[in-house]
Amino acid sequence: MSVDGAAPGVEASGPYYRLRVARVIEETHDSKSIVLDVPSELTDRFSYHAGQFLTFRVEVDGHRLVRCYSLASAPGLDPAHKVTVKRVVDGRASNWMNDQVREGGELEVMPPNGHFCLRDRATPIVLFGGGSGITPVISILKTALEKTSRPIKLVYANRDDRSIIFKDELSALLAKYPERLEIVHRLDDVHGFVDAARVVAEVGSGTDADFYICGPGPFMDVVEAGLATLGVAGDQIFIERFESHESSAEEAGPVDTSAGNRVTISLDGKQTEIELGEGETILAAARRVGLEPPFACEEAYCGCCMAKVVEGDVEMLMNDGGIDQRQIDQGWVLTCQGIAKGKVSIEYPD
Ligand SMILES: Cc1cc2nc3c(=O)[nH]c(=O)nc-3n(C[C@H](O)[C@H](O)[C@H](O)COP(=O)(O)OP(=O)(O)OC[C@H]3O[C@@H](n4cnc5c(N)ncnc54)[C@H](O)[C@@H]3O)c2cc1C
Repeated sequence: MSVDGAAPGVEASGPYYRLRVARVIEETHDSKSIVLDVPSELTDRFSYHAGQFLTFRVEVDGHRLVRCYSLASAPGLDPAHKVTVKRVVDGRASNWMNDQVREGGELEVMPPNGHFCLRDRATPIVLFGGGSGITPVISILKTALEKTSRPIKLVYANRDDRSIIFKDELSALLAKYPERLEIVHRLDDVHGFVDAARVVAEVGSGTDADFYICGPGPFMDVVEAGLATLGVAGDQIFIERFESHESSAEEAGPVDTSAGNRVTISLDGKQTEIELGEGETILAAARRVGLEPPFACEEAYCGCCMAKVVEGDVEMLMNDGGIDQRQIDQGWVLTCQGIAKGKVSIEYPD
């Protein structure tokens, strides 16, 4: 797991830093927390807001994989950065993180990112967490309890009792804040799946609140449906999606390459030249021809798909925080937003 060569905290490859694993905590039968040691010279670079995530690059069976994991720790309240990884059936990175990461090892990590953060308001907060979706939610929960006086309700869905991550920590918070905090556990094997009617019942007349949702796709869909039934305005609803969008590569139709834009992509030691379609992003083109570059959100906020421009001009359609000015100045772009102007050459980090 460890990366040879540089000391921890030294910028590894492009946007990644090597951080030491301070501790590994067994949370449930299928999830572990990884506590990271952020050296003092990186304190500013790794400062974060409750609800943000870290992007990790790991090597599994010879393949480089880039994955985001939300910080379950709360900034200023918990002593160290902590992420919690739940195994996904046949999932490459999640199982590797659970099986291979050891105390004292090193991981390649990008600084914190993301917009799923606590909004500054005085209204109550309603949190919906499903499975591993509890990670950013508990960070927001702890922060809101400590730093605001807002009433908070958490509806937390899990398959069964043994799958409840942070069960003891949540019980302790309940004991500390009995007047302001309400926690509803929903277990699939006891209560059945959460549906829109259950969401309506849990929220009741309390619609003047901010709603934070994170969990499996179908769970988030029913929560959104329930909130829509209650007439909750979209600007009161905040959602973090863990799963990538459907493959845009498979959805792509015929490509018009008459504009003459071309990209040469260096990925995993191999160079591939591709003719780009009109308005086609570099990421989409790479995937269209069968390459497997790293990506996750495809919405310019996670930073997973970052690559360096070594020749030519690449324009980004947007940047929703996935890349910072310093990285842009160094020549990095988000390939999910990158449009080549003429002939360009880009390199994914080694
Ligand atoms: C912003 C963000 C924050 C995240 N935070 C966390 C976190 O705190 N804890 C955590 O455990 N995960 C989190 N994830 C999900 C994580 O990044 C990976 O997607 C997940 O660990 C699966 O990766 P994998 O390599 O194991 O699976 P892969 O090998 O990529 O996928 C294997 C199979 O599982 C499916 N799959 C992929 N992702 C998921 C998923 N999340 N749930 C169910 N099926 C899936 C795929 O379609 C595929 O069929 C987060 C994702 C994002 C975008």
